[in-house]
Amino acid sequence: MGNGQDRNRRRWLSGVFNQMAEMASTLGEQPFFLAIQRSLTLVLPLVMVGSVALMVRDFPSCSVQTGLNGLFGVHWRTLCDNLIRGSFGIASLAVLCSFGYSLAALNNQRFPARHVSAGMSATIVLSCFFIITAPSDAVSLQDLMSLDRGLLGALLVATVSGQMFMWMARSPVFRLPLSAAGQDPVVHDVLTAMPAGMIVMFLFGLARVGLDVSGAANLNAVAQGVLVGLFQGDGDGLTQGLAYTGLSQVFWFFGAHGPVILYPVEQFLLVPAALDNMGAAAQGLVPPFVVTKPFLDAFARIGGSGSTLCLIAAVLIRGRDGGTRKLCLFALAPALCNVNEPILFGIPLVFNPIYAVAFLAAPLVQTLCAYAATVLDLVPRTIAATPWTAPPFLSGYVTTGSMAGVAMQAFNLVLGTLVYLPFVALADRVHERGYREALGLLARTACGGDMGLRGCKCLDRPGTEGRLAKALAEDLLDALDKDSQLFLEYQPQLGGEGLRVVGVEALLRWRHPVHGLIPPPVTVALAEDAGVIDRLGLWVLKEACAQRSAWSVQAGEGIVMSVNMSPRQFQDAQLAQKVESALAANGLGPGVLELEITESVALLPDARTLATLRRLRESGVRVAIDDFGMGHASLRYLREFPVDVIKLDRSLTMDSPNGLNGHIIASIVNLSAKMGYTLVVEGVESQEQYQRFRAMGCTMFQGFYFSRPLSGEKCLEFILAQDKATAHTA
Ligand code: C2E
Ligand code: MG
Ligand code: MG
Repeated sequence: MGNGQDRNRRRWLSGVFNQMAEMASTLGEQPFFLAIQRSLTLVLPLVMVGSVALMVRDFPSCSVQTGLNGLFGVHWRTLCDNLIRGSFGIASLAVLCSFGYSLAALNNQRFPARHVSAGMSATIVLSCFFIITAPSDAVSLQDLMSLDRGLLGALLVATVSGQMFMWMARSPVFRLPLSAAGQDPVVHDVLTAMPAGMIVMFLFGLARVGLDVSGAANLNAVAQGVLVGLFQGDGDGLTQGLAYTGLSQVFWFFGAHGPVILYPVEQFLLVPAALDNMGAAAQGLVPPFVVTKPFLDAFARIGGSGSTLCLIAAVLIRGRDGGTRKLCLFALAPALCNVNEPILFGIPLVFNPIYAVAFLAAPLVQTLCAYAATVLDLVPRTIAATPWTAPPFLSGYVTTGSMAGVAMQAFNLVLGTLVYLPFVALADRVHERGYREALGLLARTACGGDMGLRGCKCLDRPGTEGRLAKALAEDLLDALDKDSQLFLEYQPQLGGEGLRVVGVEALLRWRHPVHGLIPPPVTVALAEDAGVIDRLGLWVLKEACAQRSAWSVQAGEGIVMSVNMSPRQFQDAQLAQKVESALAANGLGPGVLELEITESVALLPDARTLATLRRLRESGVRVAIDDFGMGHASLRYLREFPVDVIKLDRSLTMDSPNGLNGHIIASIVNLSAKMGYTLVVEGVESQEQYQRFRAMGCTMFQGFYFSRPLSGEKCLEFILAQDKATAHTA
């Protein structure tokens, strides 16, 4: 009964999570959300530099500051100030421009027919920002551009002006009907979208006049007045504390520095409460307030707003995404000093629907628990303040003057981590789904014959597919250096009356440390794109030869090792020599090696390929054409190549034997017999298929019906077992 209920609850939870994951990924795919996340990510280097400079400049230790003064004079402080000004100081402006750029670039990917210049979009958004904000002095200009005070406004303006411009620039009504022919495409893009850009700028000009006329030009001031009004009232501070924490999180979620926007509330409510507590403590009285600024700093903002330290812990405990884990390790040191921007903008938390609930809930739950513990006298009320960069535990001790404050912080850290844990799993699920979709696309691209403009199959692809390809290509280069993620499996080929193992095909495997097994055609295509196919191919060849040599004693000399070759490998003038030396190094004769070549439209045999093939074949190495029958150029290959073996395309093995398909197979069988080629039927999955091809006169088979690809050790066992079985039947 209990188990059944448990199962139902788990199923229900998993359903809710799946729906949230679905929603999150649908939202996350919208150009608008993607553009916001991308623009926030693009300023991450600025945020990191700013955080480090801020941490060093405000380090809460006089001896460190004195030491730095002694070492560098005033220059270290000037350096920090300049770094902060050039990073945090202009980050909103950078977000604004990159949002405008990304929005257009993402829309162009989706609707390539109505291309809008991304550079122009960034320029229009920038211009609108200054038109509507119209800074009158240097101070307000600095506020507008800074990350903490300017981001909300920047994102608002970027959103409205960017979307308006995109809509108008793609609408035929506002596009100038110019022909692209004979023009510089950039000039054409700018001219066609010019009316749209001008109209958006004029509209923002009018909006500014409207604000002036209505007296609401300083929107910030109006909003702050309303806020203070909302927080005024009686009570013990819990409601205000929760409202302050919650609202601060909501602002953070939209990219605005919550505590800075709520500064008047802090001054009006939380700081006076802290001062009253300090005064009472100094006179030996009981401090009157539970919720004060030091209380929230110590117990609800541990590791920065939203208790991001807890998120870091949750990711390190449960996260599977390597990139996010690395980011968290990177962000750990700043988070210990309450600088949480690297995590806020890096993961990001801002505008991220996956983490929205936890980001709001964690500090609220922590506030409630700390409040309850204080009211129950388990933790003393706060009697001192610490700088906001004070690390956890130190702040817990100093503000309460008790180890109970430290214990409370530890409890809240664990609690916050527990709140974040399920959302880390959800984020991984969303990532994983996106990854699987992109990998599926990549696999289709890799198997297809189409080549991009720059001769790349996968690396040139747009969007997530291309990004995944680039990331995997980089990892493949690492894997080639380390050698431990790549390995081979061997699939037996059976032939003759008793179905002995007469050969094996070496198949490449890449076990990626995060994503698991990568489909071999993707690995091969990435190696081709990245220009390392020769290295990878040679590694496969050497590994296969070493394995074949290791089997020699037990399995005898008769087994042929087939190695797949990418057509590009034949461009290497040294290939024949390399093959010969791989054989010689393992004490093998050329007759035990077969090279399988898949036809490729992009690489029809040229003089060099033919010369290499001839030389190898003359030395005794066998040549096979893989996946024969359904490609565009199979017959042409046959005419131009010196060939020993043809391997029937798996789609022909699988398809129903009737009609045209049957005729194609029959003619391939016929052709092989006439020309003396060995025909291998690949992809045999059932007895019915085996018997059908046997009846057609085929004698060599490979497929899951006999054996899946196996490790070297297992493959040897299979070879020996099959030998034994045939010896018995004989
Ligand atoms: P391939 O050379 O045609 O290899 C046969 C593929 O069919 C293998 O897939 C094998 O696991 C699969 N297979 C075998 N029997 C059956 C069956 O009965 N049913 C089904 N559904 N599949 C079967 P795998 O290992 O995923 O390799 C895919 C392709 O990747 C290979 O096709 C080959 O073109 C390429 N590849 C693999 N290893 C290498 C390599 O070392 N170098 C190069 N250049 N290409 C490689
Ligand atoms: Mg093959
Ligand atoms: Mg094949």
